[in-house]
Amino acid sequence: MVCPKCKMEYEDWVRECSDCKVPLVTDRELAEMEEEKRRQRREERERKIQEKMEVSVEDIREWGKDISEEELALEEAEFNRELENLENRKKGWERMDRRLSRMILGIVGGALLLMGAGVVLGLLGRA
Ligand SMILES: [Zn+2]
Repeated sequence: MVCPKCKMEYEDWVRECSDCKVPLVTDRELAEMEEEKRRQRREERERKIQEKMEVSVEDIREWGKDISEEELALEEAEFNRELENLENRKKGWERMDRRLSRMILGIVGGALLLMGAGVVLGLLGRA
C-alpha cells in the first residue's frame, strides 16, 4: 500500500498514512489517480489557452499532444506569471487614477481659494 500524498510505502495491512492521516491506496490506484491528475492539468491548460486565444480545444490538443510534464509545468508557471503581471498593471492604473484625482482636486481647490481671496480683496478695496 502507498500514501497518495507523500508516496510513502506501507505493508499491505496498513490502512492509513501515519504522517498524512489519509487512506492508503494500491500502486494501481495511485497510478490511476496520477493519470487523472495529469488529465485534469491538460484540460486546465486547454481551457486557459482557449480563453486567451479563442481557438478550438481540438487545435490546442493537437499542438499539445507531445508536450512533456516538464513543459506543462513551465507553461503553467508562465501563465501564472502573466496573470500576476496583468493584476499588477491593473493595480498600477488604479493608483495613478487616485493620484490624478487628488491632483485635480488640489488645483480646483487652490483656484477657488484664490478667487475667494480676490473677491474679498476687491470688496475691501471698494470700501
Ligand atoms: Zn503520507
